[in-house]
Amino acid sequence: MTGREGTAEGSADSGAGTRIFSATWVLPIVSGPIHKGAVAVAGDKIIQVGTLNALTEAYPGAEVTDFHHAIITPGFVNCHSHLEYAVFRGLLDNKNFGPWILEIIDQKAKLSRADYEVSSLLGASECVSSGVTTVGESMYSGASLAAMRQAGLRARAYQEALGLDDNKIDETISMLTDSLDELEEESGELIEIGIFPHATYTVSASLYRAIAELGRQRGMKIATHLAESKEESVYIRSGSGVLALDLREKVGWDYLSHEPFGVTPIKYLQQWNVYSSDFMAVHCVHAGPADIEALARYDVAIAHCPKSNAKLGCGIAPLPAFLRAGIRVGFGTDSPASSNIMDMFGEMRTAIFLHRGSERDVNVLSAAECVRMATLGGARALGLEDRIGSLEPGKQADFIAVDTEYSHFTPIHDPYSALVYGANQEDVFFTMVAGRPLYTRKVLLTLDDEKITADAMEAKEKLWR
Ligand SMILES: [Zn+2]
Repeated sequence: MTGREGTAEGSADSGAGTRIFSATWVLPIVSGPIHKGAVAVAGDKIIQVGTLNALTEAYPGAEVTDFHHAIITPGFVNCHSHLEYAVFRGLLDNKNFGPWILEIIDQKAKLSRADYEVSSLLGASECVSSGVTTVGESMYSGASLAAMRQAGLRARAYQEALGLDDNKIDETISMLTDSLDELEEESGELIEIGIFPHATYTVSASLYRAIAELGRQRGMKIATHLAESKEESVYIRSGSGVLALDLREKVGWDYLSHEPFGVTPIKYLQQWNVYSSDFMAVHCVHAGPADIEALARYDVAIAHCPKSNAKLGCGIAPLPAFLRAGIRVGFGTDSPASSNIMDMFGEMRTAIFLHRGSERDVNVLSAAECVRMATLGGARALGLEDRIGSLEPGKQADFIAVDTEYSHFTPIHDPYSALVYGANQEDVFFTMVAGRPLYTRKVLLTLDDEKITADAMEAKEKLWR
């Protein structure tokens, strides 16, 4: 697409300082596609959305950037990722969830803080260049906060917490509080801090409760990996399996007793008063009707990660049932350690094929619903829908442009269909967050991708030893 943008400066006073971005299609999400549409931006906000003709008439002094054969859509909201694991891409491609989680513990220990910084920058650059404007990031090392800030991304950065030894809860909460204080100091305007108790097999029930209380006190959102694998179901229900034995031995928790709870992981967490509309459950692959009812009753949001779940052999989450229950659902790519690339087009396409195929019904999911989930759905899941997720006056100017001037897009009958069935991350050529372009004509404006790639290759060398 490089070279096809045209910019024309108006001369009238009205609208000076206003920027108009136009394309063949504009997708506001809250209303139908606009042919020959445009978005007017002032500062960090959208001030009007409509046809190019209407907007140039309303703001004759505005600077106009015409993307021509392109689709402007709200930036993608990637509800669940681990940018700091970007260098694990392709390392453990053929492991089932159990062996995968054991191996990843060893691999994580090989990297230094500096390596995690490089890895996070690699992840952040992929987000910007693939049209992700908001990230729901789970932080292990904490390095991704600085990377997202440098990139100019919007985020909810969740600090991970782990612990099965209830004698150490006070210590864990005190350390968590210190790190939340520090992160809030460093977070900047576009990033909110949250808490991420890692999973039911790495966080005790008491620690979940203490974290839920801390979240309420600090007004922070919470997210957790939940009901991802059959190994987790076996661990919670029967107190056995790889997570009860091998994982606890590896981490040094084998001195602790563990009882079977006889319930599903989702029902198990329900008992500990952690669910609320500020809670997001990541995965929920192993969710039956009673589980879905519980999540809906407490207005828990779900991050749906279809590619990661399929690649690790975990299964297919019952997305159509989540949507029928009225649960807020967004897409998550999860980390490159499990899904390899953080391409939201890939998540949308995987979801529509998996669910239509497994339910043997095309009516379970449409391309328009996929794009909505990848944008406004994700914003609602993260509790950010007052600011982002759609193109509306008053919302933040977070949007992207997808180049459609290629044969695989021609002809376009429906722009949603073009995005879901035809587009890939390489087709994104413009990314803006809060009115600031981060990527234009396929050039990263905030990150040095050549240096990042070279540094990441060096960090990767440690992993193959
Ligand atoms: Zn994850």
